[in-house]
Amino acid sequence: MKNKPRRVPSPPATTRKRIIFHLHTRHSVDSNLAPRDIVAFAAANGIQVLAPTDHHTILGAREIRELGAEHGIETIIGAEFSTDHGDIIGLFIEEDIFARKAQEVIEEIHAQGGLAILPHPYRHHHLTDQVLDSVDGIEVFNARLTEQLNRLAGELAALLKKPSFYGADAHLLPELGLVRTEVEVHGGEPLRAAVARGLHPVQLQATRPAHIYRSKMIASARRRTPLRYLRSLSKMLLCQIRDRRH
Ligand SMILES: [Zn+2]
Repeated sequence: MKNKPRRVPSPPATTRKRIIFHLHTRHSVDSNLAPRDIVAFAAANGIQVLAPTDHHTILGAREIRELGAEHGIETIIGAEFSTDHGDIIGLFIEEDIFARKAQEVIEEIHAQGGLAILPHPYRHHHLTDQVLDSVDGIEVFNARLTEQLNRLAGELAALLKKPSFYGADAHLLPELGLVRTEVEVHGGEPLRAAVARGLHPVQLQATRPAHIYRSKMIASARRRTPLRYLRSLSKMLLCQIRDRRH
């Protein structure tokens, strides 16, 4: 009798999912983005995964998860925390983190089963070896930074052999489409395992400086600091005039 041909199991299929990493909602002091508008943008543009990162709160991510589920959009719960050594992003966390020391924030992110990502390492950061060793990934492109600072961030990630992340750092609606990235998912692995390897860039575009001043205006209006509001307003108007000339 002939042996039955053995069926070789085919390797689990690899798929790529479109993801927006590093975005803010109106739960951040400097953003007016409504979670509903973010989800509508994602649904209209075939975005499958959203990784919102409000300042100090996971409320925006929770709201987006609820709204996104209706469209089959997966949401990673995350937030961006200011610390004594600069901002640290936590992804796949479950609760807000109240520590303000970088090392404690990173430890808390890990204790919650999350990934600690170092955003824009050369903006307002005092980096230490300990912080660099313990983060799980580095943002090598941030749409709100200069080319030079992004290049330095890329060199740092390569030197430390850390996975790369590309952030829209969107605070306003027009910034949502600036950075197009994908995450490669092997077979049925959990999304966390796929994101832990970093993201793949598809299109990277810098934001307009006017947008940065616009979000500063939102923050100073909420904080009731009229002088700062006026300073940002005049800078925004100057940028808009310059934008129109080019
Ligand atoms: Zn941010």
